[in-house]
Amino acid sequence: MNFELTDEQQSVKEMVRKFVDKEIIPNIQEWDRQGHFEPAILKKLANLQVMGVCIPEEYGGAGMDYNTLAIVCEELERGDTAYRTAVSVHTGLNSMTILQWGTEEQKQKYLVPQADGRKIGAFGLTEPNAGSDVAAMNTTAARNGDYYILNGSKTWISLCDVADHFLIFAKTDYGIGHKGISAFIVDRSFAGVETKAIKGKLGIRAGNTGEVFLTDVKVPIENRLGEEGEGFKIAMAALDNGRFTVAAGAVGLIEASLEASLKYCHERKTFGKEIGKHQLVQQMIAKMSANLEISRLLVFKAGWLKNQGKRNTKETSLAKWISCNAAFDAANDAVQIHGAYGYSDEYPVERFLRNSKAPVIYEGTREIHTIMQGEYALGYREDKTLRKQLPAWPFEQVSVTNYLQK
Ligand SMILES: Cc1cc2nc3c(=O)[nH]c(=O)nc-3n(C[C@H](O)[C@H](O)[C@H](O)COP(=O)(O)OP(=O)(O)OC[C@H]3O[C@@H](n4cnc5c(N)ncnc54)[C@H](O)[C@@H]3O)c2cc1C
Repeated sequence: MNFELTDEQQSVKEMVRKFVDKEIIPNIQEWDRQGHFEPAILKKLANLQVMGVCIPEEYGGAGMDYNTLAIVCEELERGDTAYRTAVSVHTGLNSMTILQWGTEEQKQKYLVPQADGRKIGAFGLTEPNAGSDVAAMNTTAARNGDYYILNGSKTWISLCDVADHFLIFAKTDYGIGHKGISAFIVDRSFAGVETKAIKGKLGIRAGNTGEVFLTDVKVPIENRLGEEGEGFKIAMAALDNGRFTVAAGAVGLIEASLEASLKYCHERKTFGKEIGKHQLVQQMIAKMSANLEISRLLVFKAGWLKNQGKRNTKETSLAKWISCNAAFDAANDAVQIHGAYGYSDEYPVERFLRNSKAPVIYEGTREIHTIMQGEYALGYREDKTLRKQLPAWPFEQVSVTNYLQK
């Protein structure tokens, strides 16, 4: 066991931290107020090879290990949840899914331009009447010769107005529940694709989230990802990677809440002493500090399993569940520590609290992960080997030196 970051991981951590401090933190309050998503940030992240950080070099990525993706997400969410969400969706949910399940042609056509950040990917699973209950989806894909015709709508889709490619889940067979779901790569340029942002969100206001409408969209058969009927398995495998990035981001949010709270604890005085000297304030700080460590270790354990090429659904779910709850608690306590000042946007902690709620809902709600962990413990659930695996790391022909020299 080695609990230290490698030199490469440390360099990436410092690089992303510097970027966040310079490009995101000075602007985020205004972007959040205006509900503005800044696409230039994704371009700049692409220039740093962050958008495909753990995609093999042969597919245009940086070829780093899966825990480096976690480090990127942790550092991004220290700045704001919006840009971490963008990487979660683009890299975790979309690109890594194509890497795992795609044909060589799909990888060349869709993964390569996504890995280097020229094109952006999104993930369309949720529908107005199907969130946790994925099998309740109504979007259909009817086979017609060499094409499928997709009809339906997806909602709460991150990067809906920004993405070039959507991974869309639709029913090719009705009446057989999740076994009738298939996965498709849908280009925004296909006729019949429309998107619309959702306004009035509690948090992640600087992020782009919304609806995707599909009206008689003609999707060529070669854009089906995996076999017909394999969509549910693909979606769940995608969530193993998306949840990993969400958990890692939560670590960054705990860190940001702790940093802000520590600073304020030393500045603010009541009853003749720094508030940090009051034991009930120390209790909140101690909890944040412990949860930072616990959450980070859970994330790195899941990443370690990914690097080994082992299934990690259970460990990733645990990391996501624990760290997102902990981030919500940390942000809530950070507001408490700031007193009334924490209640205004003079300090960033109110944004942290608003942002921390969505990750407790998306990519498996708190309740769904609680049930999963209970079922694993009771022996009601087990993970079987999948038809296609995420490649273990180191990837073949990997050379991280080129990346770090840039
Ligand atoms: C900001 C944001 C971004 C998102 N981005 C994406 C995206 O990019 N792509 C995408 O596909 N989706 C996305 N989502 C959607 C998200 O994944 C869903 O909201 C989530 O899966 C929950 O589904 P739901 O909202 O329909 O809640 P529901 O499934 O309707 O659940 C409602 C409540 O019931 C509880 N519940 C449901 N079933 C059970 C059960 N069996 N036992 C106990 N409790 C239960 C839930 O925990 C929850 O508290 C996003 C959501 C948000 C908020």
